[in-house]
Amino acid sequence: VERCIALAQFSETPGAITRTFLSPPMRDAHRLMGQWMSELDMESAVDGAGNLRGVLRGRDASKRLVIGSHLDTVPNAGAYDGILGVVLGCALVEALGDWRPSFDVEVVGFSEEEGVRFGVPFIGSRAFVGSWTPEAMRTADRQGITVRQAIQDYGLDPDGIDAAHYSRCGARMLGYLEFHIEQGPVLESLNLPLGVVDAIAGQSRWRVSFEGHANHAGTTPMSLRKDSLAGAAEWIVGVERCAHAVPSLVATVGRLQVSPGAGNVVPGLAEASLDVRHAEDAVRLETVRALLDAGQCLATQRGLEFRAEQLLDQPAVPCDPRFRDVLGRAVRRAGYVEHRMVSGAGHDAMIVAPHMPTAMLFLRSPGGVSHHPDEAVLVGDVAAALESGATFLRELEKEL
Ligand SMILES: [Zn+2]
Repeated sequence: VERCIALAQFSETPGAITRTFLSPPMRDAHRLMGQWMSELDMESAVDGAGNLRGVLRGRDASKRLVIGSHLDTVPNAGAYDGILGVVLGCALVEALGDWRPSFDVEVVGFSEEEGVRFGVPFIGSRAFVGSWTPEAMRTADRQGITVRQAIQDYGLDPDGIDAAHYSRCGARMLGYLEFHIEQGPVLESLNLPLGVVDAIAGQSRWRVSFEGHANHAGTTPMSLRKDSLAGAAEWIVGVERCAHAVPSLVATVGRLQVSPGAGNVVPGLAEASLDVRHAEDAVRLETVRALLDAGQCLATQRGLEFRAEQLLDQPAVPCDPRFRDVLGRAVRRAGYVEHRMVSGAGHDAMIVAPHMPTAMLFLRSPGGVSHHPDEAVLVGDVAAALESGATFLRELEKEL
């Protein structure tokens, strides 16, 4: 926890925590973290995608376990989102003492997960699995600096981004383990320190609109109106009701834009966002279909025009069942309750999971708060994660 707080001082904004892709404070974070790694006998380097990679040599260099998370933050962030997972990786290496597992342990601090600087998330983990494309290198930030230029300005070789691929170390990847704060209220509500992630939920994002007729609020009788907002409002309440009825599904209308937007005008157009998430793609897609049908039905009843446009269809990413079970058993053997849960937020693990066995452990988020300076962890929960992680390494050793 002290290390997370020490890293929090490296920020682009005085008095707050903001650290984006390869910014000057990221260099400071790399330096301090690299120093901790070398004190732990780890060889560390920053790869062509700006990921900090530290390796502890095991007894057999032909096999490797990767533990990681991200070192970048959102603007005005807390001290633990991402960073805690990297720091815990180092703490786990430290906890090994003189014991060396039969495999190498690599700790990765991914350069970019939040998508703040370029509006595109997961630069670090996508380069790690080889899905970062040359076109994406041309994406520019608000100052017009491209990803390629940013990598070059940092003193790295943008053409070396291919070398960030995990296969370049030549070892067989045993898997990827990510520790992360829950960023939600579930574990706290259950009074549990840890959660074993079953899957990262899939996401649907849509933009829908109800179009009627804008008209005078005083002269248009109720029976002759085509009120787009009243239609949208009825639909939004239906979205909430429907989401309550489907176990573990979350659906959100987070944005509503009404025009012309005057108190004395019947609303002619209402545009709304729709965000639906679930661990099972079939459930998510079926729910979205039902919600859009309901919108069409309501619009027809009210003489409105209904339109819907898909913005995102991100499939759910399951964790590896065997790897997850090893983690679950480690949590129990360390003396804690194994609570299985779904991650509603995206993480680097989501990018890595299609390429190697992946498991993820959540730590309770006090108050369910994240992406905010009040973001916190309980020291006892961090200890629980560390004990579970140490047990995981020994369980993994037995499995080999
Ligand atoms: Zn994160």
